[in-house]
Amino acid sequence: VRAPLAEIVASGDELTLGRIANTNAAWLSRRLADLGFQVSRHTTLPDVLREYASEIRAAARRADLVILSGGLGPTVDDLTREAAARALGVPLVRDRRALAQIRRFFARRARTMPPTNERQADLPRGAALLPNPVGTAPGFAARAGRSLVAALPGVPGELFAMFDGPLRRLLEKRFPRRPAVATRELELIGLPESEVGRRLEGIASPQGNPRLSLMVRDAVVCVRLVARGRTKAEARRALGAVVKGVRAEFGDRVFGEGGQDPADVVAALLMRSKVTLALAESCTGGLVGHLLTNVAGVSRVLLEGLVTYSNASKARRLGVRRSTLARHGAVSRACAAEMAAGAARTARAAAALAITGVAGPGGGTRAKPVGLVFTAVRLRGRTTVEEHRIPGDRVAVKSRAARLALDHLRRRLLRIGS
Ligand code: ATP
Ligand code: MG
Repeated sequence: VRAPLAEIVASGDELTLGRIANTNAAWLSRRLADLGFQVSRHTTLPDVLREYASEIRAAARRADLVILSGGLGPTVDDLTREAAARALGVPLVRDRRALAQIRRFFARRARTMPPTNERQADLPRGAALLPNPVGTAPGFAARAGRSLVAALPGVPGELFAMFDGPLRRLLEKRFPRRPAVATRELELIGLPESEVGRRLEGIASPQGNPRLSLMVRDAVVCVRLVARGRTKAEARRALGAVVKGVRAEFGDRVFGEGGQDPADVVAALLMRSKVTLALAESCTGGLVGHLLTNVAGVSRVLLEGLVTYSNASKARRLGVRRSTLARHGAVSRACAAEMAAGAARTARAAAALAITGVAGPGGGTRAKPVGLVFTAVRLRGRTTVEEHRIPGDRVAVKSRAARLALDHLRRRLLRIGS
């Protein structure tokens, strides 16, 4: 089964001026891929009627489905209705059902409807109304040659609701023959993207089925695999074997699936094994504490986190020896180990995680360059220290260091589980 082609045309001066990012296109693309469409193009246009209309016409000639994002509001810069009508070669006609819906929206909020909002009920003649359950702007869908053009409002919450509701039902009806799709995302940590890519050759490829793509955020490499088949079961089978291959290649470097953060996995492991945790953070400034406290229920295991930024604080709060600081400095294996031991002791925690490093941009030396970070884990009376060389600017070093530290703890926790 061939995947129907879809294009997304987003409009708005704020997009082309760079004031906001086109997150609607990203969201729609993921949804469309999951539904068995192949997204072949994203276009972003300023609010210029003539260009917008000709782009809709061109997109409708190329693709089976064209989704328009934005420009359905009541103001003069909201051009989608006019542009679509022009592209389809039909006039705008006021839709009574749409008008009634907009009126109801205002009535429910005990507001009088400004006369300008009536424009929102104008639809290209012959278009089907896509009701908006959360805002005023109704969407619409119309046939253009062999293509379907659907218009959704720009406000993300409204666009999501209308895609998942009325538009999705319409797509399932209009495009009954789509390939079934199955997707898995494996999250890896602690390896550069280039190495992950190299070791995946021979297991999966961007041209294969499943189709491979890599994404990197912080220290995490996400291996995304999208398989197509005639049925969901067939797609899942194609996926299963490759997922097994990836897991075998990377072992415990795979920490999770489906967009998990290392903090999610660590929190789950701590809660499952009932291990209490204390944190001692220097260069991450509390970021590990922040990530862990994003996870609901972590209060059962997370006792405390100290941000011991100065040498004096490391000594006073954690009992790091002055002689260690004098001889090795704060960014050292020895200091990281003593920080972890001190955190576990003062919090009476079963485990402790400590981080010390040079976040930059200043403060680096030949021996201790920017990006040098030590993480220490104290667990069951044994301390392990890992050394990391982290690329990037100050904020990137902090967020990668936090993930690598959590991953260090994760690997230690896995070993007590077995
Ligand atoms: P409104 O009735 O609010 O005018 P609209 O359908 O006309 O809705 P726009 O005016 O294009 O939509 O956009 C409204 C707001 O939605 C924008 O100010 C912006 O915050 C957000 N938005 C628009 N397009 C996008 C996009 N492609 N990605 C993310 N956000 C968007
Ligand atoms: Mg608008």
